[in-house]
Amino acid sequence: MIVAKFGGTSLADSSQFRKVREIVLSDRRRRFVIPSAPGKRSSGDEKITDLLISVSRLAAANEPFGALLERIFSRFRSIADELGISVSLDEEFAQIEKRIRAHAEDAYIVSRGEYLNGKLLSAYLGYDFLDAAELVVFSPDGALQEEETYARIAQALKARDTAVIPGFYGADENGVIHTFSRGGSDISGALVAHAVNADLYENWTDVTGFRMADPRIVQDAMFIDSLTYRELRELSYMGATVLHEDAVFPVHKSGIPTNIRNTNNPKHPGTMITASAGIENVHHTITGIAGQKGFTIIHIEKDMMNSELGFGRRVLQAFEEHGVSFEHLPTGIDTMSVVVRDRELKPHQEEIVARIIELVQPDQITVEEHLALIATVGRGMVRVFGTAARLFTAISTRGISIRTIDQGSSELSIIVGVDESDFENAVQAIYDTFVRI
Ligand code: ASP
Repeated sequence: MIVAKFGGTSLADSSQFRKVREIVLSDRRRRFVIPSAPGKRSSGDEKITDLLISVSRLAAANEPFGALLERIFSRFRSIADELGISVSLDEEFAQIEKRIRAHAEDAYIVSRGEYLNGKLLSAYLGYDFLDAAELVVFSPDGALQEEETYARIAQALKARDTAVIPGFYGADENGVIHTFSRGGSDISGALVAHAVNADLYENWTDVTGFRMADPRIVQDAMFIDSLTYRELRELSYMGATVLHEDAVFPVHKSGIPTNIRNTNNPKHPGTMITASAGIENVHHTITGIAGQKGFTIIHIEKDMMNSELGFGRRVLQAFEEHGVSFEHLPTGIDTMSVVVRDRELKPHQEEIVARIIELVQPDQITVEEHLALIATVGRGMVRVFGTAARLFTAISTRGISIRTIDQGSSELSIIVGVDESDFENAVQAIYDTFVRI
C-alpha cells in the first residue's frame, strides 16, 4: 500500500487536480492521500497558506478581512466548478468565517487551506475524508504526540479502503488546532505512512527529485536516483531542501522508503530514499553536494593543549553559557577550531571570545568570518581510495584555499570550509571532478 502526499503546486488549480487524480487512480495501491493547500499557479501567484496567514493577522488586529477571505474561497470555488465536483463548500465557508469572527486560534485559520483542499480532493477522488484534527495529536503547548497519533491513524484507517487526510495540522485534547512548521504536510504524510506501515511513502511535488547539487550553481546537475536517509540528513542539514527535515523520522524509523516524484512529470521515477541502499547502484563516488554561506570560525591555539584536561569542555562551555550551538569542531594537537553559524554567534561574539580567554587562556584566538561550508556526501566514498585527495585537488587547482576540513566520523561526508566568495566555484569544482568524468 502507498501513502501519497501532494504538495501545494500539485494542487494549485483544476488542471493540477486532474493530474493528481490520474496519478492516484492509476495505481490501486495509492489508498491514502495527504494534500497540502493550493500553492502558486505561477511564479507571481500567492499560496493559499500565505493568504490565510494574512487573514489571521488582520483578524487579530481587528481589521477587515472579509475581502481577502472571499478571494481565498473563490479559488476553491473555481477548482470545484471547473471540475464539476459536487461538494457543498458554502456551508464550510460560512462555518470558517463564523469561527474566525469568533476569534478562532491562528492555527485554525492557517490550516483551512489543507482542510478545504482535502474536502475537494476527497470528493473528486471518491475517497473518504478524514479530518486531521481527529488523527494528528498535539499537546496543548504544540508538541506532536507521536505514539497517540500513530494509534489514532492506524485505528481510523484499519477499516477503510481509501481516504484523504489533510496535511499540516492536528489538534490537542481540547480540540484546539495546531500546525507543523511551514511545509509540514510532508510530516503528516510520513506519520500516516508509518501508522499504516505503508510499503512506500510517495511525496509528489514540482521537481523531479533531488539534484546532486543546487541547480542555481550547477545548472544541469544530475538527479539523484537513490540515496539513504542518512545521506539525505547530511545534505539537508547543509541546505538542500526538497523535503521537510522532520518528515524523515517516522519513515526512517520503520524503514519505509520515500519516493520524491514530480506531478508534472509522472513517468520519471524521481528520487528514492531508503533506510539502507547498496553500493551497487552508486553511479558516482559521491551522492550529492550541498553547502551554505554564513559561518564564522574561531581558532584557538595553545601549546600543550592536548595534555590539558578539560580544555575542549571549557571552550564549549563558553558557547553553551550563551545558548549558542556549534556546527563543527575541527581539532589539531595544539589547535582547536569552532565553526558556528553567523546568525547564532553575532549577538554574543564578543562575550564568548572574552569568556574563552578567561576559561582557557589561549596563546592565540582569532575569528574568521564569511566562511561557506560545503558538504560532499556519499555512501560510496568510504570504499573508494583517494576521495579526499581528489576533492582537495579539485578545489585547490581552481586557486581556492580551503580554510577548514572536517570528515564526519561516519565517513559519509567530507566538509570543507572556503571563503564565501569562493563558494559557487568550489561547488562546481567538486561536481566537475566527481560527476563530469
Ligand atoms: N501549506 C503549508 C505551507 O505552505 C504546508 C505545506 O504545504 O506542507 O507551508
